[in-house]
Amino acid sequence: MSEESDVKMQNLRKEVFDKITNNQTDDLRALINVNDLKINFVDEFGMSPLQHACYKGNKEIVQMLLDQGAVVNDCEHKHGYSALHFAALSGNSDLCNLLMSHGAKINAKNSVGRTAAQMAGFVGNHSCASAINNFVPKANLDYYIKPQNLQKEPMLHPHLADSFYLFITQVNVHPVKVIMNLKKLPGLIDNLPMVQKVLECMSKKEMNKGADANEIMSFKYHYLCYLTDELSKSIQRHVSSNTEKDGTNEDKKHEAADLLIKKFLKCKNDGTQEYLELFLRDLIREYSYRDTAIFRQMVATLTSSDPPSAVSVISAAINGQQVFKDVERLICETCGEEKAPKKCSKCKIVQYCDRECQRLHWFIHKKNCSRLNQSSQQNHVPESAPNSEEITNAVTSRLQNLIVN
Ligand SMILES: [Zn+2]
Ligand SMILES: [Zn+2]
Repeated sequence: MSEESDVKMQNLRKEVFDKITNNQTDDLRALINVNDLKINFVDEFGMSPLQHACYKGNKEIVQMLLDQGAVVNDCEHKHGYSALHFAALSGNSDLCNLLMSHGAKINAKNSVGRTAAQMAGFVGNHSCASAINNFVPKANLDYYIKPQNLQKEPMLHPHLADSFYLFITQVNVHPVKVIMNLKKLPGLIDNLPMVQKVLECMSKKEMNKGADANEIMSFKYHYLCYLTDELSKSIQRHVSSNTEKDGTNEDKKHEAADLLIKKFLKCKNDGTQEYLELFLRDLIREYSYRDTAIFRQMVATLTSSDPPSAVSVISAAINGQQVFKDVERLICETCGEEKAPKKCSKCKIVQYCDRECQRLHWFIHKKNCSRLNQSSQQNHVPESAPNSEEITNAVTSRLQNLIVN
């Protein structure tokens, strides 16, 4: 390459990085197309355009670069950060999912031995950590929906593949939500033994991958398998003890699921969910891989003095530790979903996803609703509350007193 064209190329590349830094998607696309640029080059830190776009958290630019042939796992970065590491640092969980669906390696480590999910957790990007920890390539299901070796039938009916995939990739693993998903996702409630068998197999398989063993996913599958089994047993009991009752078997399956949810939600006067707590502790105890870090960590936490609830311990183990508890997350009282949009219309205190979640919780909440309603009115800020200026003045004068004294 002549010196002149070398300089021209350097300038072009610099322009690419500038456009990414300034989120100029259209200009960037034009620049690449007009100059027929190959975009697998790096800057002085070994960072490629793809990695820069990931660090900016710009999904649109990342998609364009992938379309232009950027290789998702190429990594020349000085400290070994992959595109997925940068996306995890950006806090954009959709972007993480995009990279993973393009084959980004989840277990790649940077120069200090940290994976992308660990880096996300480290900087407080919990939605990214959860997205990465819960990602499953859809192709992983191929093994189960095609008959293997001497099998006549596949382990999972192909028509259940979509429901099953959604079921295992859900981030909210609250037990009530899991049962609701089994109820709602088409076909699952009618094929619980099949779902259970596949999950059991997947849990083992995750541990038999040598250096790539993923104990988080292995435990997650065990967890979903155990809950599926519990629903299956509840349905059997409910159907056989209600043979006289009207209603189709279909109705009875849904009734049984609601009964199980209420059993989980039932709590003592102090608010502790005793049945759920014991159930989940048994579930952990039944996990076969006791020398894994995830198992030992959960047991250590639950046997400490004044332990948190098993449901929070499990959720943290699967989704990465929640370091910051912010009060603005508006968690559904029933299923633990974040950003639940509805409030109880009477007390205006407890949050729910929708009418369904409220209906399932009413048998507990009706005992507290009016009491909460009264206390919320007592706490209501009166009209004549001091305005911010008065508060500032009061604080200032108090500070001045301190200085004087
Ligand atoms: Zn809910
Ligand atoms: Zn209420």
